[in-house]
Amino acid sequence: MSHYKGIHHITAVAGDPKQNHQFYTQVMGLRLVKKTVNFDDPSVYHLYYGNESGNPGSILTFFPWEHLQDGDPDRGQVVAVSFSIPTGSKTFWLDHLRNHDLDIEEPFSRFGKEIIGLQDPDGLHLELVLDPKANSIEGWSDGPIPEEYAIRGLHGATLAEENYSGAGRLLEEYLGFQLTNQLDNRYLYETEADFGSVIEIIDGFDLNGRPGKGTVHHIAFRVKDEDEQQSLKKKLLNKGYYLTEVKDRDYFKSVYFHEPGGILFEIATDPPGFTRDEELDKLGSSLKLPDWLEHERSVIEKELPTLNS
Ligand code: ZN
Repeated sequence: MSHYKGIHHITAVAGDPKQNHQFYTQVMGLRLVKKTVNFDDPSVYHLYYGNESGNPGSILTFFPWEHLQDGDPDRGQVVAVSFSIPTGSKTFWLDHLRNHDLDIEEPFSRFGKEIIGLQDPDGLHLELVLDPKANSIEGWSDGPIPEEYAIRGLHGATLAEENYSGAGRLLEEYLGFQLTNQLDNRYLYETEADFGSVIEIIDGFDLNGRPGKGTVHHIAFRVKDEDEQQSLKKKLLNKGYYLTEVKDRDYFKSVYFHEPGGILFEIATDPPGFTRDEELDKLGSSLKLPDWLEHERSVIEKELPTLNS
């Protein structure tokens, strides 16, 4: 199972796309690595943010549905998204976030790592984790945050469950994670990967929320290619899960299913990646559409707001 590499990407719902873009590029210092539309609803953007190369495991994406209701944390939801930052970057980030007038939590420790908690403009809970692993990974040299402090990739995600064991077993038996620690009702699962290697599950989560802006839509896990995706799909089908057909997302191939607690999981291939249709130094610079939508480009472009103004 060692070939499974943790989280591929996390996709959340936002409101105003301009505000979302400004926050994730200028405040969090991520790179917009792909600007496209929601393939199932081309009237809205699908914005992909990541590290300089857009590595799987560094990607947080958004569907900015401006007219959707505000969401709240709920059972059967991913309720926090965390990023890895180098251990020496705490003071920089505290100053930087305060300079942007953000309400941030006092840094605290969990499972041996120091964490700065904050919320994005739509209320999605984010955590910056001071992670020793980040110290040996290069940051984006040309980004808005000095390279030595920049986010390296996703650290992980927190799942809120009525009962942790269903998702926990799935992580251990099929997705290459191991239960490595537990504190009260919080269970820590880890796998070997530079990025996106941590899943925490809150057991007995007792808030009743709802989906909407500021909530996570789904979480995707990495497989190395389509063969591995098929073999994992077969195993999960045999176990009684319902999985979708393979969907071509242009930058990866995807299948989706719900874990026992109700969270939408995706299995996504590493290839072809974000350099499929843009050079590395041009990532995110123009609106990319799947071939089957190219003939509608002028209509789509007219409807979408500009992100930089
Ligand atoms: Zn996805």
